[in-house]
Amino acid sequence: MTNIDPKWGNWASKPTPVKPEDIVRTEETEVLVVGAGIAGMSCVLSAAEAGAKVTVLEKTGYYAARGFNIGVVNSSLMRERGYYNDPDEVAREWIKRCGNRCDERVVRKYVTRSPEAMDWLLEIITRPEYGVRPELQGCLYKGETYRELIGSHIFYDGPISRAGKIGGMTDVVECMYVESQKYGVKYLFNTPMEQLIVEDGRVVGAYGRGEEGLIAVRASKGVVLATGGIDGNDEMCADLCPIANKTAEKLYWPKGGNLGDGHRAALWAGADFEDLPFPAMLHPQAYRHPSWCFLFVNPSGHRYMNEDNYLQARSLGVIKEGVKYCWSIFDSDWREKVPATLPYGGGLFWGNDYAIGRSTEFQLAGEEAKLEQGLKGGYAFAADTPEELAGKMEVDPAVFAETFTRYNAMCAAGKDEDFGKRPELLIPLDKPPYYAKKIAVALLAVVGGVRVDAESRALTPEHKPVPGLYALGNTAGGRYGVDYPLMIPGNSHGTALTFGYLLGRALAK
Ligand SMILES: Cc1cc2nc3c(=O)[nH]c(=O)nc-3n(C[C@H](O)[C@H](O)[C@H](O)COP(=O)(O)OP(=O)(O)OC[C@H]3O[C@@H](n4cnc5c(N)ncnc54)[C@H](O)[C@@H]3O)c2cc1C
Repeated sequence: MTNIDPKWGNWASKPTPVKPEDIVRTEETEVLVVGAGIAGMSCVLSAAEAGAKVTVLEKTGYYAARGFNIGVVNSSLMRERGYYNDPDEVAREWIKRCGNRCDERVVRKYVTRSPEAMDWLLEIITRPEYGVRPELQGCLYKGETYRELIGSHIFYDGPISRAGKIGGMTDVVECMYVESQKYGVKYLFNTPMEQLIVEDGRVVGAYGRGEEGLIAVRASKGVVLATGGIDGNDEMCADLCPIANKTAEKLYWPKGGNLGDGHRAALWAGADFEDLPFPAMLHPQAYRHPSWCFLFVNPSGHRYMNEDNYLQARSLGVIKEGVKYCWSIFDSDWREKVPATLPYGGGLFWGNDYAIGRSTEFQLAGEEAKLEQGLKGGYAFAADTPEELAGKMEVDPAVFAETFTRYNAMCAAGKDEDFGKRPELLIPLDKPPYYAKKIAVALLAVVGGVRVDAESRALTPEHKPVPGLYALGNTAGGRYGVDYPLMIPGNSHGTALTFGYLLGRALAK
């Protein structure tokens, strides 16, 4: 076995070539999709609906789905409700937030074609037999610097929800799965792809390991890698996305679905990765709490950032301290004080994930329940004085009391001398008991991968297409480059849907 790059771990070692006698059976198809997550399933259904013969290799026993939203730039639902985003503005802002390290052509494709992809999806999932009820997410950061736009679609009442299980994205992908069966898509579950079949430089299929042995699936129109991210593979993360291993928790499930199999297979077949390190999607939710924007302190009792920030930045703030958690500090008037902050900030974990039109009371009730859980679970504390609170947090009381007093003094003066928080958000903490709750970072996904062009073709280090090979979703790069921009929440699913839909149509031609 040869390692593709000596500075990388064993994960990059090329597998032993398959011998003809290893193969128990060969199947023929037109489009082979590897991985049945939102990216793969969008491609599967789109290609099958457009007339292609499609086969799916899936490592686990079922499709994969998690989370609640899909973010797109515009849609018919948004039009009906009077919302419109200017695609050019979205693209410019997206590229800026990604430090210009994303691929502008990839971003432009998402920005201009995501409305079509969402309308395609909505038409299917709202049919009477599926009965999904889409809504728009209203929980957005409203300040100018990190403003989040309406565009995130959330889903209620689908077949999985009606069966009493957790719906949202599972409802959406269930509809795709059922619908795809009408077109005779062949699913090979519990059949992980081990490597690609490459002949004369062209990818012509993949080997999957089924119960009976190694199956060769040959595809005449293309092989699509949609095997998700590398998040569950600590060794790959160490080399390609070190920050992913600094989080308090990795949330992906089903476990083992995200080991970077597609990334490795693409590399072995001659594709390149986008520039390193890969970006990661981080949420400050490891203790399942809103963190709001009052006073954040590190375990040494010092303030470390402007608390007025969106959720990715609030996560990075903790990681940059080199610790597993920091503290969000607030007082007993938080029920009155949080709503006053929402016109200036808000968004996920600073206001719950709720549909447009849901009341602030609904949101606060949810946050109250989470605070109670924290107090019972030992990751939130209450005390009558800053010193007593510091004792419970195991922070030096003198240091914490000084931070607390200084913060309140700056609030009273209306000027944050230390981090420049906007005056509207300088709200004194003056009503005991005071609270401290942990803020810790969860990794949702590593959202970087194989270098692709806007047609989702995998590219070589010379930026030439690897014939026959495509990558989607978190197996593909180009969308972000450096960080996960939340300007339209749910854009990881939104890009997976858009490129999956477009590639499916293109391959079926
Ligand atoms: C708890 C949680 C909540 C989230 N919520 C949201 C949200 O609301 N909105 C949002 O935009 N993003 C959300 N994300 C991120 C989002 O889930 C991912 O970015 C996205 O699903 C990736 O989709 P995908 O199709 O690329 O990969 P996946 O959904 O990971 O699908 C990959 C599939 O490939 C299969 N596979 C892997 N290796 C092989 C192999 N060798 N052979 C065959 N099959 C293989 C896997 O089993 C899996 O089925 C959330 C993430 C987590 C962990």
